[in-house]
Amino acid sequence: MTDVALSGLLPERATRIRDLIADVPDFPSPGILFKDITPLLADAEGLADVVEAFTRLALADGVDVVAGMEARGFLLGAPVAHALGLGFLPLRKAGKLPPPTETVSYDLEYGSASIELRSGTLTPGARVLIIDDVLATGGTAAAAAELIEQCGGVVSGLVFLLELEALHGRDRLQGRNVDTLLRVDTTSGE
Ligand code: AMP
Repeated sequence: MTDVALSGLLPERATRIRDLIADVPDFPSPGILFKDITPLLADAEGLADVVEAFTRLALADGVDVVAGMEARGFLLGAPVAHALGLGFLPLRKAGKLPPPTETVSYDLEYGSASIELRSGTLTPGARVLIIDDVLATGGTAAAAAELIEQCGGVVSGLVFLLELEALHGRDRLQGRNVDTLLRVDTTSGE
C-alpha cells in the first residue's frame, strides 16, 4: 500500500495506523478491495491516534457537532465528538430511524442507498464536522454534506481515515474542506 501521512500525523503513527487496516480482496463483491478497519479499532494505541488526529482537525475547523455515516463513521465519529465535548449525529441508512427524518439518496462504489437524519436533532446554523472511515467515490460523503445542509447545518469540513485516490472522491466534494489521514493511490493493493 502506498500512502502519505497528512494533517500532522507523525510518520511512525501513520505507519502503525496503515498497518492496522487490512486489505480484503473481493469483498463484499468481486473486484472490490475492502479496507477493513476492525484491527485498528481493536488496537488501543491505533484507535487513540486516529481519534486524536481527527480531534485536532476538528479544532482547526471550528465545530459545533460531529456527524458520522453508518456504520464505521459511527465508530470513529462518536469518540471524536466525546473527546471534543460535543454531541454526535448518526447519519443512518434508510429505515433505521423512527420518523420524522430528512433523507438524501446517493450512489455507492457498490450499489445505491439513502441516508437519513432524525429531524430536529441538528440545530440550524450549527457547524458540522462529517467523519467516515473511507473516501471512495465520494457519493456517500457528498450525500452526507447535502443532508446536513438540507437540515440547516453548515458543513465545517469532512475528515476520513483513508482516501482511495484512484476513485477521485474529492471531485464530488469540490469547494469543501476535506482532510484525510492516509491516502492510497491504488485500489488493487500491492
Ligand atoms: P463512497 O460513497 O464510494 O465514497 O463510499 C464510501 C463509503 O463506503 C464509506 O462509508 C465506506 O465505509 C464504504 N466503502 C467504500 N469503498 C470501500 C472500500 N474499498 N473499503 C471499505 N469501505 C469502503
